[in-house]
Amino acid sequence: MSDTVIDVPPAVMLPVAGGGLFPVRRVYCIGRNYAAHAIEMGHDPDKEPPFFFQKNPDNLDPTGDFPYPAKTSDVHHEAEVAVMLKSGGTNIPVGAALDHVFGYALALDMTRRDLQGEAKKAGRPWEIGKAVEKSAPVGPVHPVEEVGHLAEGRIALEVNGELRQEGNLNQMIWKVDEMIAYLSEYFELAGGDVILSGTPSGVGPVHPGDVMKIEVDRLGSMTVKVS
Ligand code: MN
Repeated sequence: MSDTVIDVPPAVMLPVAGGGLFPVRRVYCIGRNYAAHAIEMGHDPDKEPPFFFQKNPDNLDPTGDFPYPAKTSDVHHEAEVAVMLKSGGTNIPVGAALDHVFGYALALDMTRRDLQGEAKKAGRPWEIGKAVEKSAPVGPVHPVEEVGHLAEGRIALEVNGELRQEGNLNQMIWKVDEMIAYLSEYFELAGGDVILSGTPSGVGPVHPGDVMKIEVDRLGSMTVKVS
């Protein structure tokens, strides 16, 4: 008999391409990691220390459905690559960081931009704009053994067939190994951790009924409907 005093919440498990499930522990997201997106958000793209916010594990959603969230009239798409860790630690050197990567997945960092903007202006945390129910649609996890490490490759997002975002993973200001090393100086990373690696320029609003399609070289494509 279990000692838990309420029902145990379900663990978050993401499908792995080729079979199996990836259990999620934490979700870190980097801000402004492509120069062109930093500029469109009104910031200097020069390499400053990275900053991260978090989403909740159960914000990751593999169903292909994104329910338009409450309390907003300006929800933006951000096309990203998710990095799934199989192991972690602290003070991981850049040169060893990629050894901790299990695989990669397509992801969207859906954002209540109006609420994020108010939070920014007031110097408040971003969760109200970012850590929203089902706010991180995610595709199957592709193991490194199948797709390698994604240092470069086209990333693009269409809404209703119209190209909105396009960039190349080689435009990331902070590379995947650098993000892992940096995060591990401040947090203890572990298997199950997920890092959303930032979005190229072209972010913009979606509305109920819209269909988003993200594509990244070697990860294929994912279609997500706004409901
Ligand atoms: Mn983002």
